[in-house]
Amino acid sequence: MGQHHLEGENTPFGRFFLPGPTEVRPEVLEAQTRAMIGHRGSLIQEFVSELQQGLKKVFVTDRPVFISSSSASGLMEAAVRNGASGKVLSLVNGAFSHRFGDIARACALEVDEVAVPWGEAHDPAVVASALAAGAYHAVTVVHSETSTGVLNDLPAISSVVAQHADTLLLVDSVTGCGGAELLTDAWALDFVLTGSQKALALPPGLSFAVASEAMMERSASITGKGQYFDLVAFAKNLEKFQTPTTPALSTMYALQVQLARIADETIEGRWARHSAMAERTHAWVDGMRADGVQLQVMAPVGHRSPTVTAVSLPESLSGPNVVRAMKERGWVIGGGYGKLKETGIRIGHMGDHTLDELNELLDVLAEVMR
Ligand SMILES: *Cc1c(COP(=O)(O)O)cnc(C)c1O
Repeated sequence: MGQHHLEGENTPFGRFFLPGPTEVRPEVLEAQTRAMIGHRGSLIQEFVSELQQGLKKVFVTDRPVFISSSSASGLMEAAVRNGASGKVLSLVNGAFSHRFGDIARACALEVDEVAVPWGEAHDPAVVASALAAGAYHAVTVVHSETSTGVLNDLPAISSVVAQHADTLLLVDSVTGCGGAELLTDAWALDFVLTGSQKALALPPGLSFAVASEAMMERSASITGKGQYFDLVAFAKNLEKFQTPTTPALSTMYALQVQLARIADETIEGRWARHSAMAERTHAWVDGMRADGVQLQVMAPVGHRSPTVTAVSLPESLSGPNVVRAMKERGWVIGGGYGKLKETGIRIGHMGDHTLDELNELLDVLAEVMR
C-alpha cells in the first residue's frame, strides 16, 4: 500500500464503527486463507450442513437458510422476483427501503408506496388501510433502516399483512439480523434476508435468506424470474447441502468461524449486547445536549435500531468535518446518508464491537464536538 493505507488498516480492532461494512475479527479474517474444496461432493455437504445449524440459530428458524454469493441487494432482487408477479406495496422510510421499491420497479413490477418521512417508522394501521385498498402480491419493508437508524415493528406489520392470505411479507433485515431481535418463524415472515458485512461482522460477499412455504409456492408459480436468484433452485440444492452455483467459499470459511463465535455468545446475548450499545449511544447524546451540544437521535424512542444510530447535528457542526476529525484521531464513523450528509453522522454500533470500545469512541467524539 505504500503511504496510502486504507481505512481500518493497521489500527487495532475496535475503532471502525461504519454501519457496514463492519469490522471483522482477525481470527474470522484469517479463516479465509484456507484451501479450496470442490463445490460438489461430500466435503462441501458436511460443511454446508454445519453452516445450516448455525444459520438457523441466527434467523431463529427451522427452515433452511439460503446462502447466496451476492451482496444483500441480490437477495432483495430475489425477494421481489420470487415473491411477486403482480402489484407490490413498498413501505418507504429511508434510503434502503426506497431502494427496495426501486428494485421491484426495475424488475418490471407495478409498485405502490406507503412513504413516511425519513426518521419515522411505519404505523401498522396505515399499512393495514393501504393493504385493504388494493390486491397486493407482496409488501416490502426494511427492518432496520440503516440511513436513519429507525427500527420498524416487524411483528405488528406481519400481523396486518397476515390478514391478506395472498400477500407475502418480504423483509430486508440487513442491519437487523444478528444484532436486533429477529424471530423469523414466530413472526411469520415470508422472506427475510441479510448480508454478511453488517451485524454478522463478516467480510462482504455473501447474503442469507429464509423463505416461508407460501413464498416457495409463489416462487414455483412464477415464470420469467431469471436463473441466478431462483429460490426453487436454491431449495433443491440445499436439500443436498449444496448451492446452485460456485459459492464464495473463502467467505463461507469465515462464516464457519463466526457462527461458532455466535453460538458461544448465543443469539440472545448478541441482541442484548447490541441493545446495550444502542442505549449507551442514546444516553451519550442526551448527555451531550445537557452539556450544551445540541445533538438529537434521529429515530423516535421505541423505534430505535440496536445496531445503528443516526445523530442529527446542530448548525455549528458539519457532518463531513466531524467524520474527518475522527479519522485524524484514528476512528471511523459513518457520515449522514444521502441528503443527511451535512447535518448528520451515523454510528454503527454493530457486529463484534463491545461497550468498552464504544465508550472510547464516544469519548473521542465528545472531544471532537466540544
Ligand atoms: C447495506 C444495506 C443494503 C445493501 O446491501 P449490499 O450488501 O450492499 O447489497 C440493503 N439494505 C440495508 C438496510 C442495508 O443496510
